[in-house]
Amino acid sequence: MSSERSWRGRLFIVSAPSGTGKTTLVERLVHVVPDLELSRSFTSRKPRPGEADGVDYNFISREQFDAMVAADDFLEFADVFGNYYGTSASETERVLASGRDLVLVIDVQGARQVRLRGFDSVGVFVLPPSYAVLEERLRKRSKDSETAIQHRLAVARSEVGAVAEYDYVVINDQVDQAVGRLCCIVQAERARRPRMGPVASEIIDTFRE
Ligand code: 5GP
Repeated sequence: MSSERSWRGRLFIVSAPSGTGKTTLVERLVHVVPDLELSRSFTSRKPRPGEADGVDYNFISREQFDAMVAADDFLEFADVFGNYYGTSASETERVLASGRDLVLVIDVQGARQVRLRGFDSVGVFVLPPSYAVLEERLRKRSKDSETAIQHRLAVARSEVGAVAEYDYVVINDQVDQAVGRLCCIVQAERARRPRMGPVASEIIDTFRE
């Protein structure tokens, strides 16, 4: 039972420039790694075709978003490409208190806020293989205007400068390999001594004469 776990869950933050493919990677990651949840953000952005409320995001109005900001309901929030996005503080606490690990897929501004709040977190920055590949991916997948694509690329240029603020870097060249690297990061963090301490102590006790 998760409530019997003696440890708090670990908070993972995944950031990447728009078009890097981070959502696909993280969805695959939480599918293959047990006891790892994907946080569902709140956003004032309108759903895109195929997106559902309560699945991809909690879609709310700008007024509702402002009310949640005023009530201090967010662990972090940011304006990304003109829309507001935020992570529920209470939901984050609920998952971590249960001992399950949680992944936030948030931008670099949000990641900074989480760290500033003193939250212990593991940061992973996902990079595309190159600027040219990112540009190509954005053009292929996007129905955005040329201006919007140029804007995303300009933001990407400044976001990659934040890579030094993260603990790990994963290059999304091949999806399977990138998911594999993310799994390794989660497993490595789970094997750290502070987390393994109580279990290790129990085993060490069996060595006592
Ligand atoms: P999209 O609208 O394409 O789903 O997401 C746009 C950007 O918003 C992505 O780069 C994503 O990382 C970021 N984002 C999504 N949810 C959150 C959130 O809760 N907080 C912050 N700070 N950024 C978010």
